[in-house]
Amino acid sequence: MNKNITRTICIKLDLATHDPVLTATMKAFNSAAAWIARVCWDEGITNTNTAHHRVYGETRERFGLAAQLAVNARAKAVEAVKSVKAKKRETCPVFGPRGSVRMDNHHSYSFKPLDHVSLLTMEGRITCRMILGARQHAMLTDPAWESGTADLVWRRGVYYLHVTQSRVAPDVDDTGGVIGVDLGIVNVAVDSDGQIFTGEQVRKVRARYKRQREELQKVGTKSAKRKAKRKSGTEARFQSDVNHCISKTLVAKAVASCKALALEDLTGIRERLTVRHEQRYERHSWAFYQLRTYIAYKSAHAGVRVTLVDPRNTSRTCPECGHCAKANRRTQSEFLCQQCGYTALADFVGARNIQTVAVNQPMVAAPVSVCRKS
Ligand SMILES: [Zn+2]
Repeated sequence: MNKNITRTICIKLDLATHDPVLTATMKAFNSAAAWIARVCWDEGITNTNTAHHRVYGETRERFGLAAQLAVNARAKAVEAVKSVKAKKRETCPVFGPRGSVRMDNHHSYSFKPLDHVSLLTMEGRITCRMILGARQHAMLTDPAWESGTADLVWRRGVYYLHVTQSRVAPDVDDTGGVIGVDLGIVNVAVDSDGQIFTGEQVRKVRARYKRQREELQKVGTKSAKRKAKRKSGTEARFQSDVNHCISKTLVAKAVASCKALALEDLTGIRERLTVRHEQRYERHSWAFYQLRTYIAYKSAHAGVRVTLVDPRNTSRTCPECGHCAKANRRTQSEFLCQQCGYTALADFVGARNIQTVAVNQPMVAAPVSVCRKS
């Protein structure tokens, strides 16, 4: 029972000559979607079929949309209404004249030879060139993936097609066992094979950016503030690169050795932990959660199983003799068993314990989100 996994390819379109007709199409499509949302909101309609019968004919008449665009406007509107209601918000969704246009494969858009795509507009179909990089080209032509709905998006004068692709997750062979991974503070990650992904480089870069930001804040002028803001963006991108790199390495290793990955399960951690322990997790930043997300995402795509284990005692149990005591954890980075004298890097001990728990617990697949823009 493999899950479906999805990905999105953002393709730049060479559409300069078609701008007027696309502008008109976007405007009509979003006016229609806004009107449909209003009708569904006022009449309490959230059922797709009911919505279709209520608005289809009138949508085509009022806004002059082709059949398939009318259907897609309804789909966009009903989805937005549902999502607003699910969040218990009180306002009907609205769409601006430059909102995205939903397109469905084969009916309102279709790929043509030589990197062209045909799009359905207010004035029939137009064909334009897609500006593809080598990687995008490979993604688009990969027979394992099926292209589904796409969104035509306008950003600062440029049109993009965001194509969603899906496939069944590849078959997993994890007969080789489990790699336990401890995501820490001292080290970004350590696995149960003893591979250390040090946080040293990240910390150095962060410290440098922090210094630069502080200096700029002292200056206090408008342009200095702008500069400081840009720097914080650079820092986030650096961190994200590091996380991509670590998650890629871990997942590649799992694939090569036919192993599953195991991480600590941090859901509900707050209810369980003492204040002292909570602090340990409190200090994990957004970067820590980003790394978890990347590992989950890349694992799902590679068909690697991710197991989550109960984090209780993973940092204080001796992997050699099983002795569990707070005193085993001498410092943040050092583990020394009070019973047998086994000593090691604390994060490595954590990773070994995570591995042991994962091997011994009944198989539970991690609930992971696998959707990410590429
Ligand atoms: Zn021991």
